[in-house]
Amino acid sequence: MVVLIDNGHGVFTDGKCSPDGKYREGVWAREMAAMIVHELKGRGVDARLLVPESDDVALNVRTRRVNDVCAAYGAQNVLVVSIHSNANSADGKWHDGQWSGFMALVSLNASQKSKCLADLIWARAIAAGLKGNRSVTEKPGQRYVAQNLAICRDTKCPAVLTESAFHDTRDGVKTLTERKQSIMLAHVEGIMEYIGNA
Ligand SMILES: [Zn+2]
Repeated sequence: MVVLIDNGHGVFTDGKCSPDGKYREGVWAREMAAMIVHELKGRGVDARLLVPESDDVALNVRTRRVNDVCAAYGAQNVLVVSIHSNANSADGKWHDGQWSGFMALVSLNASQKSKCLADLIWARAIAAGLKGNRSVTEKPGQRYVAQNLAICRDTKCPAVLTESAFHDTRDGVKTLTERKQSIMLAHVEGIMEYIGNA
């Protein structure tokens, strides 16, 4: 199994930051993606960064990279997880007390395998205390939210996008910056469980 970890936005992508500008989604996601890949490799998994560059890499380029790996290894032997943090709004203000918590998303056309992968990662996140009011359900097998997401929709392998916390609430930024190890492990252990089941 080849595990592709996508860090989503570029380091300097505008607007994807906390209202005080101290937290930048692209920087955090890059660090988190590297931590996840490192831990997976340590557990013997063929894990790879989808975007080694620090610039923003267009979605269609990223989906093509995923599908190139699918063509080489067979889509059933590949999975991709895209790492993000969430926002209540793009208005540049703090939204303390609004949406909170971890989410695992799949595309509207998601396969059962994608839903299974999302479910397993989200379950680990809930167990790690990363649950918030945006965590929709705790029912096994149903811990995913379907949205129209290109990285999941346009890739041939099981694909999940995670939003670890909201970077426009102070609690969310605290979680993102102080609980990196827990967030990393939720992804790694969910992926490991999926690989064991796949
Ligand atoms: Zn994002």
